[in-house]
Amino acid sequence: MSKLNIVLFGPPGAGKGTQSNFLIEKFNLVHLSTGDLLRAELKAETELGLAAKELMDNGELVADNIVIGMIRNMMEAHNEAPGFIFDGFPRTEAQAQALDEMLNAKSEPIVAMLSLEVPEEELVKRLLERGKTSGRVDDQEEATARKRIVVYSRETSPLKDYYKAQGKYKAIDGVGSLADITARLVKAIG
Ligand code: ADP
Repeated sequence: MSKLNIVLFGPPGAGKGTQSNFLIEKFNLVHLSTGDLLRAELKAETELGLAAKELMDNGELVADNIVIGMIRNMMEAHNEAPGFIFDGFPRTEAQAQALDEMLNAKSEPIVAMLSLEVPEEELVKRLLERGKTSGRVDDQEEATARKRIVVYSRETSPLKDYYKAQGKYKAIDGVGSLADITARLVKAIG
């Protein structure tokens, strides 16, 4: 059976992490969040984590080769997975191309790119709310939240066209109850 490899896409605060939790359970997928992987490196104070810290705290992107390497390692470690949910990756065209190369080499391409659409003011509200409990430096200041949205619009949002060209882009309304949004995602996965 072909693997259910999904890119869960959207701006910071769109709900990718939350919705990933539902989808990995429902479809038995392995969750690959580059944000989570980087925060684990940071917590363990690895060289990689220390190098990424300042960029992350400031809402800037970490270098492509670093996140691509992390994803490659995790995919190799979970070769038997029925599929992956890529969350927060790819964030640049170079990352999207590297991901396609890795997956095409195994004939296990991305089947869908599900893009959670949420208005900017709602995103900022959610990020600052999360900041009260997440302990994440990048969720504390409105300026940093907005900076991440700007970086998303400039570097990451163009990937919609990349996946549209492959016929894989699906826009999902990311506003509403958690259960409603999950239902929209499940329906889009089909
Ligand atoms: P968000 O909630 O903003 O979507 P993430 O948890 O996905 O945040 O990522 C937090 C930070 O980690 C990003 O702002 C960025 O510095 C870094 N990061 C995560 N994924 C990537 C990636 N694919 N490419 C570059 N940097 C990344």
